[in-house]
Amino acid sequence: MNLDNYDAGAGVPFCDLRAAYSADAEAVEEALVRVARSGRYVLGAEVEAFEAEFASWCGARHAVGVGSGTDALALIFRAAGIGPGDEVIVPAYTAPATWMAVAWVGATPIGVDTDRASGLIDAERAAAAVGGATRAVVAVHLFGRLAPMAELRTLTDRHGLLLIEDAAHAHATDEGTGPAGSHGDAAAFSFYPTKTLGALGDGGAVVSSDGELAQAVRRLRSYGWSSWQGDAAGLGGNSRLDEIQAAVLRNRLANLSTRRGQLRDLGRRYRDRLSKLEGLGLPPLAAGEDEPPWHQFVVTHAERDRVRRALLERGVETAVHYDPIPPRLTAFGQPGRFPAAEDLASQAISLPFGHWLSADEIDVVCAALTAVDIAARSRM
Ligand SMILES: *Cc1c(COP(=O)(O)O)cnc(C)c1O
Repeated sequence: MNLDNYDAGAGVPFCDLRAAYSADAEAVEEALVRVARSGRYVLGAEVEAFEAEFASWCGARHAVGVGSGTDALALIFRAAGIGPGDEVIVPAYTAPATWMAVAWVGATPIGVDTDRASGLIDAERAAAAVGGATRAVVAVHLFGRLAPMAELRTLTDRHGLLLIEDAAHAHATDEGTGPAGSHGDAAAFSFYPTKTLGALGDGGAVVSSDGELAQAVRRLRSYGWSSWQGDAAGLGGNSRLDEIQAAVLRNRLANLSTRRGQLRDLGRRYRDRLSKLEGLGLPPLAAGEDEPPWHQFVVTHAERDRVRRALLERGVETAVHYDPIPPRLTAFGQPGRFPAAEDLASQAISLPFGHWLSADEIDVVCAALTAVDIAARSRM
């Protein structure tokens, strides 16, 4: 994302947060002023109201606003007593933050390869990865499509493990079986500005219907206090959602079902216009599955870097999620083999995507991809 050098006449940016802002600027600015004048900036009425509204949106009993999505994951682990000596099963293909949060609390992330058909965690391989030290499985709803929750729930029930959702891509995901955040024992959301529900800075939430776990996260996020300046029976840190961010998020949550419809339409438009390009893989859908409200619209191409360069020459900015995959980061250096995850990651191209994108801009991206595809075939 390089907004400073982007010339609006020249093409399509990967992510245009200024355009996203303008979609609801007046309501958001009213919220900013309301909080600024209120004199209450941390853990006040806006956070409380947002927590209730977001829990209800997710179909869960509790939501606890925290400092980021990474913190939300780490606080779930801490609240569940997961730490040194424990193992947590995570997909090999995900954002580095999923792995970092596990390691940050002293536990060991155990990577599981991707199912090639879905691009999501392979539930059978996850079952094979369970060992004596395993405490939890993290299901990542990668790019906005629900992980195989029924299979993973069978697995975690059989072994008495926690099922945790990393729902940082899935604020608008709701596939008939229930919204993201309603499937696991707890879910972590990020409100990083580029996410589907984004703040004007960092933020996150833990969502759970387990009252004890939610209460434990409340204590951990603020000095171990069980009430404001009450006793602290255990330790805690500081990871709180600001009143300003909560007020912004309340406005944007009220528009989220509209955004979901927009994201689905944009995804359908991409799919429709790109379905005939030979070398290009489209985001997977099961037979009869509706277009999810993607967080990223990720296509694959064997000559990823050449295609990205050719698109950029035509003014179309793209990004890569996520290469290298987390187990290959120096911090983890895991020796395991993850061939499906590595194949997908090495071919992944994230196209411009977000509710701010216009149908015309999608057509510009698709025309550029078509030109690149035709040029490649005429060379052969
Ligand atoms: C963004 C993201 C996170 C981390 O969220 P932050 O708010 O940036 O800490 C975790 N998991 C996934 C899959 C993400 O995309």
